[in-house]
This record gives sequence, structure tokens and C-alpha cells, in this order.
Amino acid sequence: MNLSDSIVSVKGIGDKTAKLFAKLGIFTIDDLIRTYPRNYIEYSEPRRIKDIVPGERCAITAKVVTTVEVKKTRRLTIVSFSVSDTTGSVRMVFFNSTFLRSVIRKGDTYVFVGTPKVSGSFIAMEMPEYYPIYKYSQLRSVMQPVYPLTAGLTNNVIRKTIKEVSYLIEGLNDPLPDDIRSEYGLMPLGRAAFNVHFPRDMEELKESIRRLAFDEFLHFLYDIKTLRDSNVRQENLHMVSDEAVSLLGDFFNALPFNLTKGQMDAVNDIKADMTGAFTMNRLIQGDVGSGKTVVAEAALFLTVKSGYQGALMVPTEVLARQHFNDLSKTFSAFGIKVELLTGNNTAKEKREIYERLKEGDIDILVGTHALIQDKTEYKNLGLAVIDEQHRFGVNQRKKLSAKGGSPHTLIMSATPIPRTLAIIIYADLDISVINEMPKGRKKIKNCVVDTSYRKTAYKFIYDEIKKGHQAYIICPMIEEGEQTDIENVIDYSYGLSDHFGKEVRIEYLHGKLTEDEKSGIMKKFTDGGIDILVSTTVIEVGINNPNATVIMIENSERFGLAQLHQLRGRVGRGNAQSYAIFIDTKQSKESKERLSVLENSNDGFFIAKEDLRLRGPGDFFGIRQSGEMPFNIADIYNHADMLKMAQEVIIKYSDRLNMSSVTVNETTI
Ligand code: ADP
Ligand code: MG
Repeated sequence: MNLSDSIVSVKGIGDKTAKLFAKLGIFTIDDLIRTYPRNYIEYSEPRRIKDIVPGERCAITAKVVTTVEVKKTRRLTIVSFSVSDTTGSVRMVFFNSTFLRSVIRKGDTYVFVGTPKVSGSFIAMEMPEYYPIYKYSQLRSVMQPVYPLTAGLTNNVIRKTIKEVSYLIEGLNDPLPDDIRSEYGLMPLGRAAFNVHFPRDMEELKESIRRLAFDEFLHFLYDIKTLRDSNVRQENLHMVSDEAVSLLGDFFNALPFNLTKGQMDAVNDIKADMTGAFTMNRLIQGDVGSGKTVVAEAALFLTVKSGYQGALMVPTEVLARQHFNDLSKTFSAFGIKVELLTGNNTAKEKREIYERLKEGDIDILVGTHALIQDKTEYKNLGLAVIDEQHRFGVNQRKKLSAKGGSPHTLIMSATPIPRTLAIIIYADLDISVINEMPKGRKKIKNCVVDTSYRKTAYKFIYDEIKKGHQAYIICPMIEEGEQTDIENVIDYSYGLSDHFGKEVRIEYLHGKLTEDEKSGIMKKFTDGGIDILVSTTVIEVGINNPNATVIMIENSERFGLAQLHQLRGRVGRGNAQSYAIFIDTKQSKESKERLSVLENSNDGFFIAKEDLRLRGPGDFFGIRQSGEMPFNIADIYNHADMLKMAQEVIIKYSDRLNMSSVTVNETTI
């Protein structure tokens, strides 16, 4: 077996299971190996039945005291039996598991693990795990990895599958020669990967995670280096004209506001780049709501007025459509033609767009990945803007900037990375920072509350709606297995509709809607046709509806602070006072402390730093700061030292590393 083999070549994996793996993005054995646990659990000491707390997952050691009963309903086969210890009894209930009849015998003793609940006059556990006593004590002695799951694919199946290929994990090819590895005190890659899947002790596990983080950084920085080597100091082939520069004032005059100093500085950096000797590769970094879009617009304006085309690439269609609408409005007065291209256009529409683009009949093309597909040919692309760039890998960046003969590139990011780390991660880019908010913005008012406050929050939202404003509610996240996030968003919305009645217009948004549906809902929301938008975190990126003044986030304790900050950034984008309500369901000491950081600060950089400081020692993976970064296990904050180490290794030893860079098929560009 090879790493690049499909996972169907692993023993026990058929086409059906492979399809489930595919849902997790796992196609090859290599993908499987790189699917790291999200967490580890330790199996707890079994309790006496009388000490069970309903709703709290636990283990009990108990004897089967009845025969196994099988009952068929229309939809389900229910298998159940009772178990007892000296202190009480519990009813075990399984669905569609008829095979248990021949497995479980009256008189046998097992350890059952599950979440007990009160069911009429007795306590029941649904679908518990069950283990022979000896097996359970084995489990107790090691930490059990918990993998990301998809419906139908259990943790056990993933674990077993990984076990089948464990010899390949140990033999993983290390990009570091032994002497470099020892110089930096890193363990062999194969051992690290093995430990992460089959951890034995805490310390070793932590070291292993750090090694894997190091490797992700190493590959990333290596790619960046190749990108930079090919890009650096390229002659400016798309010189911005003096005339375009002189027209820029008209563009500013047409805006309903004055630029902040930070925005102005960024525009000046861009102007200097685009009129300079070399091609621009610039990152605009600015907190949510700092007004990055208008900076990009200024750059696009300069480009078009100098006779070139511009492209604006964003991660989602919803955002593409929003930008398209804004740009069309702003630019129509200047005779600049803006067009939208997404995966959603019909074949005919696309053909038409390609045609017009090639002829130069489109000045600015806005869209998603479609912008870098092979068929998209520009007449003379002068500037490629990438918004919320963290969703794009190096490869895509490379592909876009290679289009049409080294256009300028401008990348906009809201990820709050300290400067020292930013210059490593964005080594191929110059950086402009917008470090102030537009004037007249009122600071978002925050409150962190428990679930008993929910009714009051609804009332508050209702009052805002009556004032003509709108609200977001970010739906609770779901514990593995119970229900899907989607079902939950839908249920929650129905609950809300019951609460508010017909008077309040409520709609929901989740990732599985089609792009058309999503765009339709977003448009309706920004047009004021929806009062409360209930959503999963799909609205996290970039969306701008200045009329929305409240965001309420359920289960706030389960989000990373940086993500909460991004979500909160959906409000406070206009002049009205805005509010963020964080529901803390857990009310633990830790969650209170973490959320109080948000309550007291609206500064993305500060929040990211505090989040790092507050992480506990058992917090292996942390909560992702920026799930948008192209890393699987590495976190730029948590593993900042590894990032710096990887950078040093690249600088000192890049020609001794055993790896290859990302490939872009140049012929297709
Ligand atoms: P982000 O940096 O999060 O991408 P946007 O560019 O979407 O922020 O800007 C957020 C809102 O602020 C928009 O409605 C935009 O029109 C407005 N805005 C941008 N710059 C200014 C400014 N200098 N003064 C007032 N409002 C501004
Ligand atoms: Mg934006």
C-alpha cells in the first residue's frame, strides 16, 4: 500500500464507507493519516448507578438482568434490556441493532458508557457503548482520539481504519535530514504522526503536535518561498498613469464619507506600488469593519482608468454578489463596467462573459474561484484583488497572479496577526495596516449572559426591529451525533417564529443551501425584507448590512474568540448603536473569563493575544483562531515558536529539505 492509494485499498473499507470518508475530504491514505483528532477523551472510572446524573455522560459497570427484548415500530427496531448493580438499575435502549440479541446475554456484566436520561419512571441510556470489563480497563489506560465525524461514520471506524495503516504512518518520509532535526530538537515525523493517532502520554503528545505543526508551517513557507522567488521584483508591466492618479480625487468625492487616515495611507502605498518600477504584491490588513473594500475600489479605479482590467476574487458567492452590487453602484457614474462571474452562471452566460472579458468589454470582474479557471481569459488584467484572502491557498494565489502576465495583486485580510508573525506568513507580500475605524462609528455594546436571559434578548431584538433595524442570531452548535447543524438551524427558526409570531420576518441560512438560495436570502436581508436572520457561521466572512444592529450568538463558549470577533463584526457597520449578545451556556469559570475579553474589548489584535494567554495546558489544539488559515493542526498563535523555527529552517536549509513545492500547471494558465 502507498500513501497515495485510495482508501478502498485499506482492509475493511468498501465503496460505501469510502463515500462517507469522502464527505470528510478523505480520499487517499495520506488524507486519512492527516486527519488528526479534534480532541482526546479519557474513559472515566465507572460510577455506581445511584450516583448517575441524568444528562451527564458516564460509565457504569452492570449486569444484564433481563432478556433482550426486540420491538418493531413502523420506522425502527428497538432493542432493549435492563442492567443492574447493587445500587439501582438502568434500561439500555438501542435502535436498529437486532444483532444484539445474539451478543448480549442475561447474566453478563459489561461496562456501559453513555448519557443517561430520565424516561418515565426509570433511567435509560440510548445507544450506549458497551465493553467487557477487561477491555474497558485497557481503554482507561490510554487517551482515546476523537476524530471529526460525519453521519454514518463512527469514531471507531475511523480509528480502526487508521490502525490498519499505522505502519505507513511510522514510515512517513521526513522532510528534515537527521542532523537538522536534531539541531532543532524535533522528533521524527513518523513518530509524531503515530503519537497523535495513538497517544501514550501527555508530554509526548504535545511534542508530537508541535512537530506536526512545524511541518505544516514548513511546507507552507516553502511554497511561499517558491512563490516569492518567482514573483519578487517583477517589472511593473501595468503602470498606473498620471491621468488615472489625477482622477482619483473624483472617485473620493463621489463617496458618501471621507477616508480615514489608515485608509488613505493604504491607498498611498498602493499608488506608489502601481506607479513604481515593480509589480505590486500587497496585503491590506485591517480589523473587521475598518473599511478595506473602498481601498480595493480605489486600486481598481486606478487600474481601469489606466486602461487595464481588474478582478476581485472572494471566497463565497454571497460575498461576490454583495461586492458586485456595491461596485456596480460606485463605478457606474465613472463609466466603468462591472460584471459578476460565479459557479452559478449558466453555460451561456459564462460564454458571454468570457467573450466580453477577452475583448475588453468588461472592466472589472467580480467572482469566486471561477475567476482563476482556465477558461477565464482577460484582455489585459492589471490588478487582481483577493478579499478575505485566508480562504485561498498559496496555489490559488499563484494561479491568479499568473493570469494575464503578472498583474498587480492586492490581498485583504481581517485576520489579526501580530506583525512579527505576519511578515513570516506573508513573506511574499508588502503589508499595509489599517489600524483605525471610520469616524462616527459607535463602539459595539457587548454583553455576555446565560440562557435565562434569552427571553430578554428576544425582547431587546424585537425593540430594535421596531426601530427599523435588523438582527442576526447565530445558532447553537450541535454536539456530535445528536442532530445536524442544519436541522438545528431550522428547528431554532421555527421556535423563534412561534415566539415572535407573524409580525417578525425570520429566515434561516446554512451552508447546505444552494448558492442561489443563499444569495437570495442575503439579498432579501440587505434589502430589509428579513428582520431576523438565523444562521450558522456561514455569515462569518465579509457580509455587510449596516442596518443590522444586533447579533446574538448562542453557545458562545464553543467558539474561538477571534471567530466571535469576526461574527460580531457583522454589526456596527453603520452609524446606529449596535449590540452583541453572547449566550454562554456553560457558565464555567473558563468560559466566563474568555468571554469577558470580548465584553471588554472590540480590538481584534488584543482579543487574539488574550485568547492565547487564557489557554489551558490541556488545550492541545486550542480553539481555532483562524480556521481559514490553510493549516490542519498548526495554529499561528499557539505554535508561533514553531512558525519561527520553520522560517529559520527554510532560510538556512531550504536546499537540503526533502520536499517539493506546489505545482501550478503553467500551460493551462
Ligand atoms: P471591512 O474592512 O470589514 O471589509 P467594509 O469595507 O465592508 O469593511 O466597510 C464597512 C462599512 O463601513 C461599509 O458600509 C463601508 O461603506 C463603510 N465605510 C468604509 N470606510 C468608511 C469611512 N471612512 N467612513 C465611514 N464609513 C466607511
Ligand atoms: Mg470586507
